[in-house]
Amino acid sequence: MSELKDYQYQARQIEDMTQHMFRFGEGKISGYAAVFLGCISFLGVLCYQFPSYLTTADLRAAYDGVALQTLLKWVMWGTLLFALLTFMLGNYRRLGAISVLLVLAGFAMGGYTLPVSEIESNNLTLGLDWLLLTLLGSVCIFTFLEKIIPKYREQAVLRPEWQIDLLYFCVNHLLIAVLLLISNHFVSSIFGWAINNDLQQTIQSMPLWLQVILLIISADFVLYWAHRTFHERPVLWRFHAVHHSVEHMDWLAGSRNHIVQTIVDRSLAMLPLYLLGTSKAALDIYVVFAAFQAVLVHANVAIPFGPLKYLLVTPQYHHWHHSTDKPAIDTNYAAHTPLFDRLFNTYHMPRRHWPKEYGTTKRLPRSFLKQLIYPFKRSK
Ligand SMILES: [Zn+2]
Ligand SMILES: [Zn+2]
Repeated sequence: MSELKDYQYQARQIEDMTQHMFRFGEGKISGYAAVFLGCISFLGVLCYQFPSYLTTADLRAAYDGVALQTLLKWVMWGTLLFALLTFMLGNYRRLGAISVLLVLAGFAMGGYTLPVSEIESNNLTLGLDWLLLTLLGSVCIFTFLEKIIPKYREQAVLRPEWQIDLLYFCVNHLLIAVLLLISNHFVSSIFGWAINNDLQQTIQSMPLWLQVILLIISADFVLYWAHRTFHERPVLWRFHAVHHSVEHMDWLAGSRNHIVQTIVDRSLAMLPLYLLGTSKAALDIYVVFAAFQAVLVHANVAIPFGPLKYLLVTPQYHHWHHSTDKPAIDTNYAAHTPLFDRLFNTYHMPRRHWPKEYGTTKRLPRSFLKQLIYPFKRSK
């Protein structure tokens, strides 16, 4: 019975995949682009309208709110341009109409000329600004990469279950302030005693490149063992299985993480950053590198890394970690470099091959809420 269900599910996925194929000249690409940019426009205006509820103080310090209004202006006019194209091509007028309504609502609320107001730095707010900036940047960069150098050329941009993963992406980004608060509190309250000023001063006097390498290796050591423990302890595996339930790899797939896993990972990743006390420049470089690599390794891209593949965790490397092929199960735990997988005998990297299938051997429920409660339900 469950085999029949699996078969029906796979048939639905193939149907879903063909429905979501994009072809030039139909108006579907411009329609989806218009709705996507329309949502960014509307929500972007909301950020300027209600900054003390919807924007994060930490991120606000890093960007120029006035300069971003120029970006918002381009996004709003870009939406209208794509909507016009959609109306001209004809087949997807409803998408064009939705996007025009979103932009008009944005203009009615003040558009891209609202004053940029300050917010209290200790407010616990939603990170809508963080969500919109990373979503816009990620869609532009990774959709482009996945189109010009894909591993699975036939995979649609809107592949099966993209909606669940987008929801995970939104939740993880909206809750940035809460997640930062928890992880900061975790490291400072439990490991505050381990701070060593002499060590931190020595590290800060090192060249920048050496500080960055130190951060990468020490964070990778912590993340390697955290990840391995999530695989080897049955109670923890039920949380981590959510991440492995992805069956179609792309840049969005890496967002699928149970909230408990996200909190644990962020807190543990914070530990070496907190204890080493590197310079701010080194920390910034590491954070950008780690965030970019975490998305890239899930992406549907076949970038030829050459000898760099011996130094860095690549998409092929992490795709093997998600494979259902027996020899690959419980291998390739590292997040940044293959070093600790090699040292602790969990390295699996066939030279030219990529996995045939992804996912878990036992299928998980296929909705955000059911996956949220899955680890807490007693297994049969
Ligand atoms: Zn894993
Ligand atoms: Zn992964």
